[in-house]
Amino acid sequence: MEPFDLAVVGGGAAGFMAAITAAENGVKRIIILEGTSKFMEKIRISGGGRCNVTNATWIPNELVENYPRGGIQLLESFNRFAAGDVFDWFEKKGLKLKIEEDLRVFPVSNSSAEVIDCLRKSALSKNVELLTKFFVKEILKTRDDSFNISSLKKEKIITKNIILCTGGHPSGYKLAQNLGHNIVKPVPSLFTFSTKEQNLNECSGVSIKGIDIEIKLNNKTFQNRGDLLITHWGFSGPAVLKLSSIAARELFSQKYKFNLIIKWSVLSYDELKEKINCLRFKKGRMNLINSRPVPLLTKRLWIFLLNKIDIDKDKKWADLLADERDKMINILTRDKYIISGKGPFGEEFVTSGGVKINEVNFKTMESLICPGLFFSGEVLDVDGITGGFNFQHCWTSGWIAGMAVSKLSHKVTNQ
Ligand SMILES: Cc1cc2nc3c(=O)[nH]c(=O)nc-3n(C[C@H](O)[C@H](O)[C@H](O)COP(=O)(O)OP(=O)(O)OC[C@H]3O[C@@H](n4cnc5c(N)ncnc54)[C@H](O)[C@@H]3O)c2cc1C
Repeated sequence: MEPFDLAVVGGGAAGFMAAITAAENGVKRIIILEGTSKFMEKIRISGGGRCNVTNATWIPNELVENYPRGGIQLLESFNRFAAGDVFDWFEKKGLKLKIEEDLRVFPVSNSSAEVIDCLRKSALSKNVELLTKFFVKEILKTRDDSFNISSLKKEKIITKNIILCTGGHPSGYKLAQNLGHNIVKPVPSLFTFSTKEQNLNECSGVSIKGIDIEIKLNNKTFQNRGDLLITHWGFSGPAVLKLSSIAARELFSQKYKFNLIIKWSVLSYDELKEKINCLRFKKGRMNLINSRPVPLLTKRLWIFLLNKIDIDKDKKWADLLADERDKMINILTRDKYIISGKGPFGEEFVTSGGVKINEVNFKTMESLICPGLFFSGEVLDVDGITGGFNFQHCWTSGWIAGMAVSKLSHKVTNQ
């Protein structure tokens, strides 16, 4: 059997971008090997079925700030192929994109199926072979520096180059390890927080903008400001997802048992004391429930907080006792919740960990240990926060790997 010039293992976002880029730049015999019966399944379910393709953060220096792991190495990559390039890449292929207020980029149609269609058609138009149900079990390097790939069903393929794009699937880490790579232990990132806090579900659905939240673990403090959503199991929303990403490794080591501090007010203890004293004197005849010291708090949430500190919501401001005032200030400036685990559903679940990035040449995405082996996407120890940054990393690393394979003219059959 004539060897392939390039076998891409894993038919997700990274794999398709890598294969299309190589094909469009002259690499001839390319095959994408997908273990399941469907390509790009994660793209399909992404962004609630809308696929948040990237983020309109055009400047590479700003883009890298959204990657808790891998940021430094990514700067060079983004200087070559960043969010604006991805936007143009898709639009040139006929996929119309739009930028939402928070900078997230989606297809105008709001349908991830269009992204899949665009990638599939682009691959097929360049004669990339697409093979499903080929679950790669083993990759062996041959004496002539090619690779023998075997599937679970013992089918075999020979290829001169491989781009490993197996996402967070454990088999991909094993394949990389067998070819000499080290793996940073994969742990989940981008998850919500569960709490058994009594009565919090009364606030389910309450969403508040620009809240500071904090976790202290192993003498480290992790903080984030963002929009917070209270759910029937605990806390969600961009503030929580980002904090889960920043602290992913430490939270894993604590088995997701930790204290979450929520600062409902941006004011300091003394500033809030002054504000509350003001309410006591100026609005003394009003009930606590009808005048909130933090205007952002919804009525439901304010009642919940008052109940939590055992203060009668119908009490008059003038009747508030000094110790009650202190309890109120404490809960508004540092409200503590015991988190008992991750939330039941991953909203934009991604794996932190993977192939060690100092074993990969980020100029080409080629392995520094096994020549001819390249990596792209989530299989690497790179992960971003929510907002389209994880796909952006797939597009960028896929593009760089595809370009690099096309430049290996001595090893591939160029057109
Ligand atoms: C619910 C959900 C929503 C998300 N929404 C967004 C979003 O809107 N925006 C965003 O930026 N990110 C989002 N993400 C994250 C994003 O989906 C991933 O970062 C991205 O899909 C990773 O792409 P990848 O190509 O590296 O891996 P994957 O998409 O996981 O693709 C890897 C492929 O390799 C195949 N494979 C694995 N092992 C083998 C093997 N041994 N042999 C052959 N094939 C194999 C798998 O079956 C899979 O098809 C979301 C994630 C989830 C779970």
